[in-house]
Amino acid sequence: MKITTIRGDMCNVHIIISNIVVIVDAGASLNKILEETGNEKIDVIFLTHAHYDHFAYLNDYIEKFKDVKVYMTRQAFEKLDNPILTVAKLFGVNNLNKINQSCVNFVEDGTTIDELENKNCFISLKGHTDCSCGLIIEDNLFCGDALFEDGFGRYDLPTSDFNETSKTLQKLKNLKGINTCYAGHGNSFEFSKRFNFN
Ligand SMILES: [Zn+2]
Repeated sequence: MKITTIRGDMCNVHIIISNIVVIVDAGASLNKILEETGNEKIDVIFLTHAHYDHFAYLNDYIEKFKDVKVYMTRQAFEKLDNPILTVAKLFGVNNLNKINQSCVNFVEDGTTIDELENKNCFISLKGHTDCSCGLIIEDNLFCGDALFEDGFGRYDLPTSDFNETSKTLQKLKNLKGINTCYAGHGNSFEFSKRFNFN
C-alpha cells in the first residue's frame, strides 16, 4: 500500500494505492489527481464531510472515473446542495447540485470498504460538522477536519457542536493502533504524539 498526499487548492487529497485506489476528499483539481495517478483508475472516493472545500471537484472526479463509488455519511449527502450548510457561500459559491445518488454508498461507524484488501473501517468523528467521518486503513487514520497537527476543527460553523467535538477528541485519544494521521489541511503527523499532553 502506498499513500500520497496532494496539497490541493481547497484541501489535502490523500491517495491510497493498494489492490484498489482510494482517494480521500475532493479538494484538488482533476489535473492534479491525474498528474499523481497517471492513468490509474480511481475506485473509491471518500468524503470526510460535506464542506465545500472538501468536495469542490467531486463532480469532475465522478465524470472522469465512471464506475467510482463515493462513500460518505447520509448526513453529508443530504446537505451537498445547500450552500449555507456546506459553507460554499464562504467561498463565493451560491448554487450547488446534489450528485447522483447511484454512485453513493452511505457509511457510519464501523462500515468497511469490502473491496479493499487492507484492514479498514470508517469512524464517526462528529463535532466539526454533524456529518464528519474518518477512515482507518491499517495503522493510518484519515480524519478530515476533526484533528490537525496543532489543533482541531472549528466548531462554530453550521451543524458544528462543541460537545460532539469534545466526545470525538476523547474517542480519538482512546483509539488504539494508529500510527499516522492524515488531516484535511496541513501536515500529516504522528498520532500518538498528538495526544501526549504530559
Ligand atoms: Zn471542514
